Amino acid sequence: MKILVLGAGVVGTTTAYFLAKDGHEVTVLDRQTGPGLETSFANGGQISAGHAKPWAEPRMPLQALLWTFQADAPLLFRPWRWDPSLWSWGLKFLRNCTNERTRINMDRTLRVALYSRSVLKALRQHTRVKYNQTTKGILHIYRTGEEFKRGRAAAEKLSALGLPQDILTVNDCVKLEPALNHAASIDLAGGILSNDDESGDAHLFTKEIAKLAVELGVEFRFDSTIENLKTSGQRISGIITNQGQLAADAFVLALGSYTPHLTEPLGLKLPIYPAKGYSISIELKNPDNAPTISVTDENRFMVFSRLGNVLRVAGTAELAGWDSALREVRVEALKRNAQYLFPDASSYADLSPWCGLRAATPDSVPILGETPYENLFLNTGHGTLGWTMACGSARVIADLISGREPEIDLSGLTIKRFASS
Ligand SMILES: Cc1cc2nc3c(=O)[nH]c(=O)nc-3n(C[C@H](O)[C@H](O)[C@H](O)COP(=O)(O)OP(=O)(O)OC[C@H]3O[C@@H](n4cnc5c(N)ncnc54)[C@H](O)[C@@H]3O)c2cc1C
Repeated sequence: MKILVLGAGVVGTTTAYFLAKDGHEVTVLDRQTGPGLETSFANGGQISAGHAKPWAEPRMPLQALLWTFQADAPLLFRPWRWDPSLWSWGLKFLRNCTNERTRINMDRTLRVALYSRSVLKALRQHTRVKYNQTTKGILHIYRTGEEFKRGRAAAEKLSALGLPQDILTVNDCVKLEPALNHAASIDLAGGILSNDDESGDAHLFTKEIAKLAVELGVEFRFDSTIENLKTSGQRISGIITNQGQLAADAFVLALGSYTPHLTEPLGLKLPIYPAKGYSISIELKNPDNAPTISVTDENRFMVFSRLGNVLRVAGTAELAGWDSALREVRVEALKRNAQYLFPDASSYADLSPWCGLRAATPDSVPILGETPYENLFLNTGHGTLGWTMACGSARVIADLISGREPEIDLSGLTIKRFASS
């Protein structure tokens, strides 16, 4: 089958790879000059099933309100902005802030994340792909007793859903990651280890998988901006780009937070809103004083991943439209916290700041699979966990297009779940 994959981020590129493995004739289009240059470029690096906790939870409405006036807040949501798409997304988000919805959404996200982690492991074994990966687990640290208690309760829920985690004392944390020695002396209440989680450079991975895909016959067309999809009845007949028109038998939309811009003219409204996040990549002067295991600071909503001789620090979310400007106050917040936890890792003078737009859905669950257009497939809305969920989501789409039953149940993961909202 001739297939066009729209978007060459980590999600589109892995989709193209699995489709080519199935023998399809695949072309990938992207407006950038290479693969993985937008949100997949400098993310937190975590393959984190243990992070499958939706943003929408009972305490979030009050918490988000309190953060409204704090410029460096972990989640910045300013509802008075004139932005009807934000309000509509926000209302759906609020409806997901119940205990019951949180449990359902956690279950759905975890289903994809666990599956994806196993697909990534198998892919790595099969291809020997290297991307500065570390497979020591992810250590979630808690600064206060209250947060630690909440973390343990969430860990119990994740355990019940199939993700066992180890509860660690402060001493255990330092034994596991000696670079936390300083943090332990100031304010560490404990940790939770997600044993089978991992980390690695998503951009490097995307580039390597793109090379493997090319070897399988995939064609990448960069500098190609997709402007419109053309329909013929209930099918997509082709696409219009700045380079001309293209036709195919099937189309996969993997455009991250830009996906709704192309589906809306088709009458397909996707509740995806961009959540801007930031990272800094710090060249390590004293690698021995920097963490080697990937760490999540649950109090500051920040993650730390060791990518070779670089420490990647990432976090914060700002719901402020499709604006990709870097704001210094947010970069400073990341730097301040990294310096606070790991003061001897670097001088922190030499760092590369970056920001990207996460494709956030109101329930934190991605949107996968079929649409009302019989040859149009969605692989988008992965929010904070697109790197974690890329391989599994890609396999699901390849299975659907190749006429196989996906290996995970797709109920609650498709566009159909928004039909009534
Ligand atoms: C600060 C931060 C930290 C994060 N940390 C983690 C983490 O630790 N672990 C994790 O799992 N996830 C993390 N994420 C999320 C993860 O990075 C994303 O979910 C993932 O990169 C999304 O991949 P994607 O391929 O869907 O989107 P993208 O990488 O954005 O790819 C979409 C592609 O579509 C192209 N495109 C868009 N519109 C058009 C158009 N009209 N024409 C042509 N091309 C177009 C873009 O150029 C882009 O290349 C983080 C995100 C951020 C911002």
